[in-house]
Amino acid sequence: MSQTSSLIELTRNIGVIAHIDAGKTTMTEMILHHSGRTYKVGRVDDGTTEMDWMDQERERGITITSAATSCVWQDHRINIIDTPGHVDFTAEVERSLRVLDGGVVIFDGVEGVESQSEMVWRQATKYKVPRICFVNKMDRTGANFQRTIEMMKKRLKTNAVPIQLPMGAESSFAGIIDLVEEKALLFSKDGNMETMDIPAEYREITARSRREIIEHVAESDNDLMNAYINDSEVDVATLRAGIRRATIANKIVPVMCGSALRDIGVQPVLDAVAYYLPSPLDTPPICGLRPDTEKEEVRYPQNEAPLAALAFKIVTDPFVGRLVYLRVYSGTIKSGAQVYNAVTGKKERIGRLYQMHANDRIEVQEIYSGGIAAAVGLRDTSTGDTICDPKNPIILESITFPEPVVSVAIEPKSKVDQDRIVESLNKLAEEDPTFKVQYNQETGQTLISGMGELQLEVIATRLLREFKVHANVSKPRVAYKETITTSAKAEGRFIRQSGGRGQYGDVWLEMEPLERGKGFEFVNRLVGGTIPKEYVSSIQAGVKQALDEGVIAGYPVIDVRATVVDGSYHEVDSSDIAFKMAGSMAAKACIQKAAAVILEPIMKVEVSTPEEFLGDVIGSLNSKRSGIEGIEQNEGISIIQCYLPLSESFGYATDLRSISQGRASFFMGFDHYEAVSKDMAEKITSKYRIGR
Ligand code: GDP
Repeated sequence: MSQTSSLIELTRNIGVIAHIDAGKTTMTEMILHHSGRTYKVGRVDDGTTEMDWMDQERERGITITSAATSCVWQDHRINIIDTPGHVDFTAEVERSLRVLDGGVVIFDGVEGVESQSEMVWRQATKYKVPRICFVNKMDRTGANFQRTIEMMKKRLKTNAVPIQLPMGAESSFAGIIDLVEEKALLFSKDGNMETMDIPAEYREITARSRREIIEHVAESDNDLMNAYINDSEVDVATLRAGIRRATIANKIVPVMCGSALRDIGVQPVLDAVAYYLPSPLDTPPICGLRPDTEKEEVRYPQNEAPLAALAFKIVTDPFVGRLVYLRVYSGTIKSGAQVYNAVTGKKERIGRLYQMHANDRIEVQEIYSGGIAAAVGLRDTSTGDTICDPKNPIILESITFPEPVVSVAIEPKSKVDQDRIVESLNKLAEEDPTFKVQYNQETGQTLISGMGELQLEVIATRLLREFKVHANVSKPRVAYKETITTSAKAEGRFIRQSGGRGQYGDVWLEMEPLERGKGFEFVNRLVGGTIPKEYVSSIQAGVKQALDEGVIAGYPVIDVRATVVDGSYHEVDSSDIAFKMAGSMAAKACIQKAAAVILEPIMKVEVSTPEEFLGDVIGSLNSKRSGIEGIEQNEGISIIQCYLPLSESFGYATDLRSISQGRASFFMGFDHYEAVSKDMAEKITSKYRIGR
């Protein structure tokens, strides 16, 4: 094997994935500590961690930005792509999952599989990301390894296979049994790990559990299968190779345990990342389209192959400026090199290249295939763009983000603040593509929109604090949409014949509803000569404008197909403007006829509460037009699954806290759009009429 391909083989791009508070930050800290990149270990609780470098994150104790950090463990280069724990940042999670090859999923040994973990788990499954799991907080009262494994099997429907067992539990949690090596691992307070023989009382369960691992991985290998059938010895290397194959094939998920806070079990996790998670060579090669021919091409993780890299994150760094995080899928990226952005069609020059370590950066000259780094100098590159070899252009699948569902208005206190708001928000919006900024000239308000109340709260607070803007922030507002429920056909005629040159545009349009999420489709079914071709795009622009402006309550109309079926034109008086107007009028007329409805965003909510508050929690949810899907009871804790209209969800965190004396928790994320009732529609529409 050549030296560089062995470098690729030794690369691991991983994400540490966890429910908020499960210990992701503490774990990441410990990983950085053991892999030699940090000297002082930060503690979340005193706000000095390496990864959570934004002030606000420290205060809230949540990790928001997807920074990529690099470290080295036993010859392996491990790139950790940070994934946010809060579901309001779902798009951030998806974005990270696109560029990582494997995940370390952390569970709280007391809480087990929490609601939010389920959501992230499903996302990781969607991207076929191989995972290993770490049951954390084994030192806490109530921690239970076996129960967590059962929950993983039941709730995540995964083939969770323990490759370790805890020795003791809660305050007597002392170490770990490594089932693969058949050794006991003991950890001292200063972070040293000592390997010992397995104590007599654990030998039987060790043998049984090891055999279970063999059973789960046997089908991947003949030797293992024979050993399993004949009940013979399996050596460490063979078993490891079997676990690796089964993990990468997503057949099993190896489960480990420990306590990140007490530094128990962290080194074995690093070992497992190297042993069991895929290198870029183990993942399927990436596909993309050649921009000129639109033909599919494949790029392999080889340094000699043409460069193909995906820009997955943009961060404005106070010292070096705009940093574009890149995942290199094939070829090599060099500082100073000229590259091609296949999406914008522009050539750009890579300035310096950095390998990041939270807010510390190390300059590097090149990044090999499979690697991750941040580049300076790519001014016109946005998230989702492909950076490639100018001679071998390719467009990799972009990262798509959902449309925002909630917004708040920001009103500056002075002109200076106004200027600062625009500038700061543009920077923030670049970092987070799920968040959009709009300026309303008439009201002087700036509208920011995103995927959830918390996300906007975080942005508004950053604006006020980090960028020192003085402004009032409004209550959150729902981004309603409109759509039609039946098909309709209507004519739009725009004809003016007063003085000078007249105007003539005449369009017959058919409109039909599309499935949710399909957006807008435009079809031209005119037969030759009915309307000159050049006016068709004007008609389309007119239809689009009418849809964007909304017809019943001023909200954008979505999920419709508009087909131009007929019309007429005038040799002299027809113009682009006239056909645009006619298109818009026809679209409005169709929507009026097609039983239009207002759609509202519906959030998926999961509340976890001690049983004693169950009645009150349900009562409160019922008063909010929620649809309860199911209730699960688990050792004194009730988990309620439901759907809640976004408009009813504002301030739910405060409500729930007061109902449950702060003991219940919840998570919510946008799920889908749904038509509102007649009464609600009437309310929304009348507000719109008054506002006009
Ligand atoms: P994150 O939200 O997933 O990043 O979780 P953090 O790393 O911020 O941890 C949340 C809380 O759990 C903090 O108060 C940590 O000190 C605590 N914690 C983390 N790991 C452990 C552990 O192994 N044992 C105990 N007892 N507490 C832990």
